[in-house]
Amino acid sequence: MAAKRIVFLGAPGAGKGTQAKILASVESLAHISTGDMLRAEVAAKSVLGLRVAEIMDSGQLVSDDLIVEIIKNRVGAADCQNGYILDGFPRTVPQAEALNQMLDEVGQQLSAVLFFNVSEDDVLLRLKIRQESEGRVDDSAETQLKRLRVYREQTSPLIEFYRREGMLTEVDGSGDVLQISARVRKVVDALSA
Ligand code: AMP
Repeated sequence: MAAKRIVFLGAPGAGKGTQAKILASVESLAHISTGDMLRAEVAAKSVLGLRVAEIMDSGQLVSDDLIVEIIKNRVGAADCQNGYILDGFPRTVPQAEALNQMLDEVGQQLSAVLFFNVSEDDVLLRLKIRQESEGRVDDSAETQLKRLRVYREQTSPLIEFYRREGMLTEVDGSGDVLQISARVRKVVDALSA
C-alpha cells in the first residue's frame, strides 16, 4: 500500500494532536508533532531546548530554518516508511514551501492536508480545558490569544496555499472526539480507495 503523508492543519486547540494520535495508531503512521518534539527538548534542557523555551512560552513561532531542519531529520526515520502525520508543521508559507521542496527532492508527495475547521469560541474553550488538565504555560489566557493571533497571521494563509494546490480537505472540527475521528477516517479511507 502507498505510504500516506498527511498534514493536519488548524488553530491551536482545534484537536489536531488528539486526532493525529488516533489516526496514527489505526493506520500505523508516525505521529510527528513539532510542538511535542520541542517540548521534549525543553524538558531535557538541551541546547536546542534552552534556545526555544522562551519563544514557545511567549506563544511565538520558532524560526522556519530550525523547524525545517528538525523535520528533515525526522521524516527519514524508519517509522516513517509507512507514512506520517505532520501535526503542527508546516505553520508558515515558507515552511510549506520547504516541505514541498523536501518531498520533491526524494520524489515523494503529500497525500492530503486536513484542515480542522473549528470556531474561535470552541478553540478558546478547548484551550481552557487543556490548561486546566495539562498546565501548559503557553495555554495561559494571555498567551492563548497571542497564539491565536499568530495562527491567524502566519498559519491560516496555508489554507489557501493548499487549496490552490488541490490538496486541502476541510474537516468539521466541532463535536466530540469520536465524531471528529469518524470524519477523519472517511477522508483517509477515500485516499486508499
Ligand atoms: P504546538 O504544540 O503545535 O501548539 O506547538 C507549541 C509551540 O511550539 C508553538 O507555539 C511554537 O512556539 C512551537 N512550534 C511548534 N511547531 C512549530 C512550527 N512548525 N514552526 C514554528 N514553531 C513551532
